[in-house]
Amino acid sequence: MPRVRPRSLRLRLTLVVTLAVGLALTVASFVLVNSMSNTLFGGMTDAAALQVDKVADALEHGQPLPPEDPSAATLIRVEDEAGKVVASVPETGAKAVADRPVPDGRTRATEASADDIPPAKDFEIVPARTVSTPQGEARTVRAISRSGQITQSIDLVVNSLLVAAPVLTVFVGWLTWFAVDRALRPIEAVRRRAEAISHSTLDERLPEQDTGDEVGRLTRTLNRMLDRIASGARRQREFVSDASHELRTPLAAMRAELEVSLAHRGNADWRNVATRLLDDHRRLERLTGDLLTLARLDEAAVSRRAEPVQLDEIVAGEIGAVRHAEVRPALTPVRVTGVVPELVRLVRNLLDNADKHAAGVVAVHLRRDGRQVIFTVEDDGPGVPPDQRERVFDRFFRVDGSRDRASGGVGLGLALVRRIARSHGGDVTITASPTLGGALFEVRLPTP
Ligand code: ADP
Repeated sequence: MPRVRPRSLRLRLTLVVTLAVGLALTVASFVLVNSMSNTLFGGMTDAAALQVDKVADALEHGQPLPPEDPSAATLIRVEDEAGKVVASVPETGAKAVADRPVPDGRTRATEASADDIPPAKDFEIVPARTVSTPQGEARTVRAISRSGQITQSIDLVVNSLLVAAPVLTVFVGWLTWFAVDRALRPIEAVRRRAEAISHSTLDERLPEQDTGDEVGRLTRTLNRMLDRIASGARRQREFVSDASHELRTPLAAMRAELEVSLAHRGNADWRNVATRLLDDHRRLERLTGDLLTLARLDEAAVSRRAEPVQLDEIVAGEIGAVRHAEVRPALTPVRVTGVVPELVRLVRNLLDNADKHAAGVVAVHLRRDGRQVIFTVEDDGPGVPPDQRERVFDRFFRVDGSRDRASGGVGLGLALVRRIARSHGGDVTITASPTLGGALFEVRLPTP
């Protein structure tokens, strides 16, 4: 059977609280009435038994009957063999009535009991005791309950509870209904505002209240989340616009080249044109390749096959591609877990840059330091100014735009290095090389 659950939190909370209070009051009322009647009736029974014993003992020894015990709330009745009432404690009208010969003792007892003496044996609260007087007459002593007052007070309590408990329950329910409404109102306001925020209005924020309560904290957290989404969206827009710009430049150059050559009709040097176009083409290819790699790395969930890799072999392989500078390697065999094409890219980009900027020497070190693998590439070039050591890892950032543009870089190389290092659980930093004087790039990766 499907569970019926009200969709409104307000209704749900009100129902739960009302039911809980109702249940608690019902149980408490039962316990109260029960213990009250136990206390009152229990005391009465003990007192009645004592009184019966006293009267019976007095009769047995021919002594005067003891006085009434005001706490007993009972009528002690003495009957002869025929069931005729011959005496009673306290002496209500019972004795006078009892003196008259009446056929039915019970009826008489009823008459004798005035208003609060119950009529029948059923009201005997302790077993009757039969004794024999010194004259040899049998006398039965009975205790008849005069519990009218007790039952009356218990009834009063029961009746009050029957009225008070439902009234209190309904009142608590009503109070909960309004309290929950008040508590939920700010949440509803936040929800409405959040619904109105779309991709184009990402700069808007939810109304924050300085209450410091749960709603205030929730709103602050949501606003911080909106900050992150907004800055992510802004970065994305900048990236797309930078990428389009970088793509447009070689395309425009290619077009101009072709237009100029075509304008020359038969005189164009098509071999030269093809060489220059090939350069632009390579640049475009490299740029789109970098963009694709970055996009793939950003999609964290995309299946990237990590496997155990000998990093020293990758580094040794890439050192061979360094054209201009003299490389001084110091490599120890180390193993990491990673994606081979990405690690190749990381090493290649660092070596490419060092080769590009070095005056003549590039030093490459690979070693293990505790639980980390440290890979450093340093050169004797101009280095990276301290204030730009973080910015060079930004996408499309170049220290000197015109110089690097000519060399074909678009400022994605180091962004890729950092992205790859981080996606492998490590990072990359720049300092100045103490031995060569140029830049020192240090990559730290965890060992498997
Ligand atoms: P690009 O692909 O254009 O080379 P990078 O992201 O690889 O871009 O580099 C970003 C910036 O960092 C570049 O402007 C470059 O001048 C500077 N840079 C990178 N490596 C070095 C280095 N070894 N020495 C000095 N500057 C460097």
